[in-house]
Amino acid sequence: MSDATKKDLVIIGGGPAGMSASIYAQRALLDAITLEQQAFGGQVLQTSEVDNYPGVPHTDGYSLMEAMRQQATDLGACMTTTNVESIERGEDGRFVVTTPQQAYDARSIILAAGAVPRLAGFEGEKEYVGRGVSYCATCDGMFFRGREVFVIGGGNSAVEEALFLTRFASHVTLVVRKDHLRAQRALAKELEDTGKASIRFLTSIVKVDGQTAITEITFRNNEDGTQTTDTFEQGVGVFVFVGRVPTSELVRDYVETTPAGYVITDAHMATSTPGIFAAGDVRDTPLRQIVTAASDGAVAATAAAAYLGVPVYE
Ligand SMILES: Cc1cc2nc3c(=O)[nH]c(=O)nc-3n(C[C@H](O)[C@H](O)[C@H](O)COP(=O)(O)OP(=O)(O)OC[C@H]3O[C@@H](n4cnc5c(N)ncnc54)[C@H](O)[C@@H]3O)c2cc1C
Repeated sequence: MSDATKKDLVIIGGGPAGMSASIYAQRALLDAITLEQQAFGGQVLQTSEVDNYPGVPHTDGYSLMEAMRQQATDLGACMTTTNVESIERGEDGRFVVTTPQQAYDARSIILAAGAVPRLAGFEGEKEYVGRGVSYCATCDGMFFRGREVFVIGGGNSAVEEALFLTRFASHVTLVVRKDHLRAQRALAKELEDTGKASIRFLTSIVKVDGQTAITEITFRNNEDGTQTTDTFEQGVGVFVFVGRVPTSELVRDYVETTPAGYVITDAHMATSTPGIFAAGDVRDTPLRQIVTAASDGAVAATAAAAYLGVPVYE
């Protein structure tokens, strides 16, 4: 494409993986750009408590990611808010990365597009988004001040977010499909200690209903299959934390993925297509956290620089 802007590297996604890649790309003096479709910071912006990022004992998601963005910008990183619509691979080994505003002619790409919430799949879920159903406690918790809230999920994210919601809600019920939690014990204990939460094991929500807000929830007992419907005078919140789905559609035609869509990479974050790297939650990795995403981004940018012939390993 002749009018496309030429770049050494296009980084797709401005979460911790993309931000770290952009810092390392600057350090390697690459002509790089980072494209983010929503807010620079990624999923981390959804959490109000981050306690496990080394060197930062206690912070909130926004502060941590704003510090990363500022650090990248101070180093001269080029960052633009736009949505990458497609990637095309040319015969010369270059890539055309297309956004609504312009196209980039890139010698290499780092896909750091992360993951999005998995839907729980109950009746009314999509219909009630913004009217009671939410995937972000930090964003929507305050709308449920003094109200009852249900949190679906049994992993760390679900318990962390349930804990956060106890600050606002009159009561938080964790709805867990299985007979146990997958979350760390310390977190579960913290939730219990609030005195404002309870857990319904072996239970799923099958339907939500109401007028403008959710005032009816139908639960299924997963042991015997029976269903019961609870009604509420005031609208309640249903927060869903049942996992994430990788945002890998952009590269599915070019790279190997797991059946679930996670991009397979080697230790250098290289995919099966030379020039395409992947970092963070979008890739097949045993741990998906801020620290691992940042680490992946650093490795990916360093490997991209090596691919482009910049001697960064010495
Ligand atoms: C509620 C919650 C709480 C969490 N708490 C913690 C915690 O306490 N500690 C911890 O270590 N981890 C935590 N995590 C996990 C952590 O947020 C993720 O592991 C991390 O954000 C992954 O970073 P990433 O850069 O790979 O992806 P993401 O953070 O998902 O960033 C990817 C970015 O790519 C953008 N993007 C996607 N597609 C496109 C496109 N086509 N064009 C342009 N941009 C695109 C997205 O908008 C997004 O901003 C939490 C996650 C959640 C959801």
